[in-house]
Amino acid sequence: MNSTQHYKLLILGSGPSGLTAAIYAARANLAPAILHGPLAGGQLTTTTEIENFPGFPEGIMGSELMEAMEKQARRFGAEVLVDSVTEADLSSRPFKLKTQDGVLLTCEALIVATGASARMLGLEEEKELLGYGVSTCATCDGAFFRNKVVAVAGGGDSACEEAVFLTKFASKVFLIHRRDELRASKIMQQRVLNHPKIEVLWNKRVTQIRGSKKDGVTGLTLFDVVTNDESSLDCEGIFIAIGHVPNSSLFKGALEMDKAGYLI
Ligand code: NAP
Repeated sequence: MNSTQHYKLLILGSGPSGLTAAIYAARANLAPAILHGPLAGGQLTTTTEIENFPGFPEGIMGSELMEAMEKQARRFGAEVLVDSVTEADLSSRPFKLKTQDGVLLTCEALIVATGASARMLGLEEEKELLGYGVSTCATCDGAFFRNKVVAVAGGGDSACEEAVFLTKFASKVFLIHRRDELRASKIMQQRVLNHPKIEVLWNKRVTQIRGSKKDGVTGLTLFDVVTNDESSLDCEGIFIAIGHVPNSSLFKGALEMDKAGYLI
């Protein structure tokens, strides 16, 4: 690749939005280039089976769906660049974007489809123990917890899905939720509440993750938001599934955002 490349249209992000944009733009003869970004195919590649994408009555694996979308975009001439943008100058046209591989990309139009990343609890230990018992992806790391006790933090669809998936490996799964009602869809709630291996710990916040890089996670300290009691839970892994934050920091000051950092 040359050190400077010009495109009529650049698309940042290779998740469903980026690839859908690429399919439409390529069919409109805009000769788009799509940048994979740090996670090729986006977050759906870290999920298991997708049951609610129209057109797949038997479900489809996330990675398979994303491969098919990319193939479809390439079929109409979209170019796929395996690189990530590190700096963006949108102050004048053509827009200028520097990449991790040291390439300067310029473009007349830019579509930002950079998606979001897992939100973390904000505890010091979770950074230190990420990959040592702390995870944000059950499909990636679940198999390391065969016959072990694990916890999942969160009460939405992601947390429920992670909890159910982990029952394939773990001997017991605790779902820790900060309220007394799950946010997840009814069907996911039922799967969690009816599962013999899953126990929901209601009204609890994780305030400490115990362990070390040598021993991995050994347990959690939980705070009950109703009784103000503190308790301890022994487990060998914790999966954090409390939602996402938008990957928009590249455009701070350059593009309008809401309070959460989502582009307007
Ligand atoms: P979400 O719906 O925003 O749920 C986040 C959960 O984490 C909530 O239960 C929230 O508690 C809890 N939470 C947030 N911040 C927390 C903190 N600091 N400490 C403790 N708990 C915290 O996020 P999601 O589950 O990732 O789902 C995102 C979207 O994707 C949703 O629209 C969901 O339906 C969809 N999704 C669908 C599927 C599926 O259909 N199979 C699978 C995954 C995701 P509160 O409830 O108290 O706010």
